Amino acid sequence: MMLSPAHRFRDIERKPEYLRPEKCVPPPRPGPAGAMWFIRDGCGIACAAVTWFLVLYAEFVVLFVMLVPSGDYAYSVVNGIVFNLLAFLALASHCRAMLTDPGAVPKGNATKEFIESLQLKPGQVVYKCPKCCSIKPDRAHHCSVCKRCIRKMDHHCPWVNNCVGENNQKYFVLFTMYIALISLHALVMVGFHFLHCFEEDWTKCSSFSPPATVILLILLCFEALLFLIFTSVMFGTQVHSICTDETGIEQLKKEERRWAKKTKWMNMKAVFGHPFSLGWASPFATPDHGKADPYQYVV
Ligand SMILES: [Zn+2]
Ligand SMILES: [Zn+2]
Repeated sequence: MMLSPAHRFRDIERKPEYLRPEKCVPPPRPGPAGAMWFIRDGCGIACAAVTWFLVLYAEFVVLFVMLVPSGDYAYSVVNGIVFNLLAFLALASHCRAMLTDPGAVPKGNATKEFIESLQLKPGQVVYKCPKCCSIKPDRAHHCSVCKRCIRKMDHHCPWVNNCVGENNQKYFVLFTMYIALISLHALVMVGFHFLHCFEEDWTKCSSFSPPATVILLILLCFEALLFLIFTSVMFGTQVHSICTDETGIEQLKKEERRWAKKTKWMNMKAVFGHPFSLGWASPFATPDHGKADPYQYVV
């Protein structure tokens, strides 16, 4: 079989003799074990803050423009509880997606000792990242924003200011799901509110002036519609890539499959946890990823 130049280059890069471990000095001060993961990226931090602001804006309009002034007590209480619960789960998922190490490969581990400890057979190939001087497990990719190699990196998401990888994909999927749900819920409530208020006297419907009420509601409608489309597409794409066990990067690069094929259900359990339970929907339940040896290489 003919190999393209790109393939040939990658093979060269993967041969142990090209690793040159003597060029890798360990990082000056490795962070303390268990330190919180947080990416210091201005753009990402701004995007994450905008996300929180938009959720809190929706919260404000739903509560103070629609539910509190509404005369129907039962309607307000039920919708208030549902909306707040979903918003809380969305923001909790956001925090966990942002503050969980997505699966970073130890920096500067491409030392002579480590490569020897892998006991590579002659001709066996390993990847080395030239930027963070680490030996990459299979399916890891380097992220230029995080400045680290991330196991099973899917993409870097500025909205959660983190990479989406092996360890935090569950929280990212839950985040997109809960945002899609609160957007849908907000749209339905705005619809009911307009229907109800066109029949009745406007002054009874809102504690704000009619023009302010309309502007606040239209902005909420616009926001909810945009988020509903964006997050439901993202949710679908993520679930599809989990089921087929192919990350966004692998789909983009059309990488040949080097890993074993598993059933859709097994792939879902690998991300959301074993066995299937309510914990799948909870951003507080940490999944046991059933990790395989990350340093398995295909010859
Ligand atoms: Zn790297
Ligand atoms: Zn990243």
